[in-house]
Amino acid sequence: MPLRLFNTYRKDYEEFTPLNTSKVGIYMCGMTVQDRPHLGHIRTFIFGDVFRRYLEFRGYEVAFIQNFTDIDDKIIEKSKIEGVDWRHLGDKNINEYLTSAMQLNIKPATYYPKATQFIQEIIETITTLIERGFAYEANGSVYFEVSKFKNYGKLSGKNLDDLKESFRIDPDPNKKSPFDFALWKAWKEGEPYWFSPWGRGRPGWHIECSVMSTHFLGQPFDIHMGGQDLIFPHHEDEIAQAESARDKPFVKYWIHSAPMLLKGEKMSKSTGLYFAIKDLLENYSPEAIRLFILQKHYRSPAEYIPDYLEEAEKAIERIKNFLKASPAVEHIGPVKEAVIQRFQEALDDDLNTPRAVSLLFDLVKEGNQKLSENINPHEEKKTLLLLMEVLGFNISNLLMEKVETDLIRDVVKIILDVRQELRKNREFSLADRIRKELEGIGIKIKDTKEGTTFEF
Ligand SMILES: [Zn+2]
Repeated sequence: MPLRLFNTYRKDYEEFTPLNTSKVGIYMCGMTVQDRPHLGHIRTFIFGDVFRRYLEFRGYEVAFIQNFTDIDDKIIEKSKIEGVDWRHLGDKNINEYLTSAMQLNIKPATYYPKATQFIQEIIETITTLIERGFAYEANGSVYFEVSKFKNYGKLSGKNLDDLKESFRIDPDPNKKSPFDFALWKAWKEGEPYWFSPWGRGRPGWHIECSVMSTHFLGQPFDIHMGGQDLIFPHHEDEIAQAESARDKPFVKYWIHSAPMLLKGEKMSKSTGLYFAIKDLLENYSPEAIRLFILQKHYRSPAEYIPDYLEEAEKAIERIKNFLKASPAVEHIGPVKEAVIQRFQEALDDDLNTPRAVSLLFDLVKEGNQKLSENINPHEEKKTLLLLMEVLGFNISNLLMEKVETDLIRDVVKIILDVRQELRKNREFSLADRIRKELEGIGIKIKDTKEGTTFEF
């Protein structure tokens, strides 16, 4: 069965056929790093991760490029408010993202380009756009002339007449038309700058993604991803720039994920409604956060409700308990082919993760049933681990706790056996000290007629 995806550009489902038979190029619009990464960002990046992992599972080699926008109006503004260097602010948030992404088992990108590393290439592309008549310079800034690009609005489904209302307020007197957007911004006092043929300045936001994506993936490339909020104007402008610079299509498939909502509004720093992912990771396991995200389809908005995360945490516990209770799997041996088939059918259907996730719990249920009948649920366990790996769950995290807690239990048993010997020999003060010290580290001891039990 072919993989079908909803392509925003066509406004329809399309069969996925990569430009190159075995390699797939994906560009994901990453964060603008003026703020800490929050759950809304992570939702987009976890779907990107699962999409990539699924393509790899289907046998494709994937180049995954995710940028960091490290120079932008918002970064300059925020660094002024905080009184820190704009580079320092960006690096801090980039590090927080990379640490959280690692905890969440998001595969590292093939490359993480930053806008400031591509200034020269950005200048070259802007020069080409001016030479080809798509852009003009005015007072040290350069603008893209939207009316020159005939397909403008095709991705977002907007036409210039619809847009007139929202653009009337634009005060920039340098623009020929309010629809035009900046490729290069002339330097203002107190701002960082680079030298260019138009004087000191810095790149606009949209041009960096056109330049960095095609630098790594060529033009056209297979898949461009990002949040739905980027469709207009960011992605619309990326298409206009890249296709005007090279007379070639830019991207084959545009995949957009819906936002994370909080009280019905998009989770974002600008609305003040957001949860930093680092803070959430202090209260919830990375597996529960991933499960919570995958339980909703990527194109449906998801409401953040703490109860849902609590439920996801309990569901992960059920999975762990099953893994703990069942014997270790061997590398050889059968898997449940029919379940894998259904799993593929679910993900082939525009990455239907809620359906794929429900199969995990079917397997846990069947496995537990077998355990209750004293049958080794080998196939269920092996299949479960395989599917969870494709969905990006950290398998060693799911299994490791079993190893650790088992080890603690074994050590405590040895200590309690020694304590029992001491009591038999009437060395009560030493026996009591063992009890107190174990209780001091959270291990509760209970002496009963049948023997000593403990819990932690
Ligand atoms: Zn972008």
